[in-house]
Amino acid sequence: MTATSYWLAEPHDPLPAARLDGAPDVAVVGGGITGCSCALALAEAGLRVRLYETREIAGGASGRNGGFALRGGAAPYPVLAESIGAEQTAALWRWTEAELEELAAMAGDALRRTGSLRLAVDDEERDELREEYEALRVAGFAAEWRENLQGPLSRYPAALFHPTDGVLQPARLVRRLAARAADVGVEIHEHTRVGSVGETGAETVVVATDGYPSGLLGELEGLVIPTRGQVVATEPIEEMLFEIPHYGRHGFDYWHQRPDGRIVAGGFRDVSLDTEFTADEITTPVVQGALERFVESHVGRPLRIDYRWAGIFGLVFDFVPVVGRVPGRDGLWVAGGYSGHGMVLGFACGRLVARAVLGDPDPLLEAFEPGRLLTPGEASLAPTG
Ligand SMILES: Cc1cc2nc3c(=O)[nH]c(=O)nc-3n(C[C@H](O)[C@H](O)[C@H](O)COP(=O)(O)OP(=O)(O)OC[C@H]3O[C@@H](n4cnc5c(N)ncnc54)[C@H](O)[C@@H]3O)c2cc1C
Repeated sequence: MTATSYWLAEPHDPLPAARLDGAPDVAVVGGGITGCSCALALAEAGLRVRLYETREIAGGASGRNGGFALRGGAAPYPVLAESIGAEQTAALWRWTEAELEELAAMAGDALRRTGSLRLAVDDEERDELREEYEALRVAGFAAEWRENLQGPLSRYPAALFHPTDGVLQPARLVRRLAARAADVGVEIHEHTRVGSVGETGAETVVVATDGYPSGLLGELEGLVIPTRGQVVATEPIEEMLFEIPHYGRHGFDYWHQRPDGRIVAGGFRDVSLDTEFTADEITTPVVQGALERFVESHVGRPLRIDYRWAGIFGLVFDFVPVVGRVPGRDGLWVAGGYSGHGMVLGFACGRLVARAVLGDPDPLLEAFEPGRLLTPGEASLAPTG
């Protein structure tokens, strides 16, 4: 058994080396999906970009997640509509669908377009999913309602199928984006932690560290709450039971099977909710035990666990991303706060913040305004994976 992420354990080529003389136009802090997509977009627009990552490319949540490539946001469609309005919600969903197409064009074999299955565990969740299904259909989005599920899914009363979603090898995707960024001139410094904005020498700095405390965000620091998620990958098994991403209990459980037969399963942080609000990237027996029992109950026998790992994501009180200028800090930008739903959103927000830096802000940025975290009104933390 290894304590490394199954995704990060995949062998990979070294990054192409690009070197810049002098100060960059923009420094990007964080080598995950957000930082890499932002750096790539800025360099493609002709800017000189340097990217810093404390560990290795994809070493944070981007190489430690469940691998789901989902459209939309962390909150269900009707909940998001309550918080940012029907028009902005529809715009956000359309935008994530379009960005998923862009991501697919760059991902190659790091993405499979399988669709995803959001499962109801009881009648209450069934009603919530049905409400979401109806809201999606009214707004013109593709979605399918499923009942009478078979085999290991027969315990679930209903499910909502999202046909355009997919499943990633996320570390492969992000390494690919980083290589592409280096090819267009981004100078990438792995194993380099930025200790202050000033030390980058750049007039514009984008902090793309999501749940990992960067120490660079002043008053905003900690308001994107570091939250731990844990995952297991089993031994390969013969039968293919869960070919597409499955998630239930409001996203607290998520699992799917790799083409090699391994089951990747994550979640269950609600078995120890308080201890999982942390940036300490370790696995714990209580959550790991719950994951093992969950897999056993769905497969009908215990499986050997070959990989166990943890990662940190950034949770925000309203489940809306945090993208834009950092209030009161000239030249400092942030993109993060995806509340556990950040692979498509991170790719999209990296490009969104790049466009804003280039002087072309999107109207969605009004909803993503970082300053709202400083005066949040009525905060609520509903469940999410
Ligand atoms: C267990 C788990 C499961 C998840 N499952 C899914 C899923 O299936 N689908 C989905 O869409 N989302 C999922 N998420 C969320 C998703 O992984 C994240 O939202 C996304 O990866 C965030 O990407 P990012 O680039 O913004 O941040 P990260 O990938 O976390 O990268 C931030 C990087 O910043 C670096 N850093 C921090 N401070 C500094 C500094 N001062 N200097 C230099 N570098 C610094 C860190 O080392 C880190 O590598 C999951 C998250 C976790 C933890």
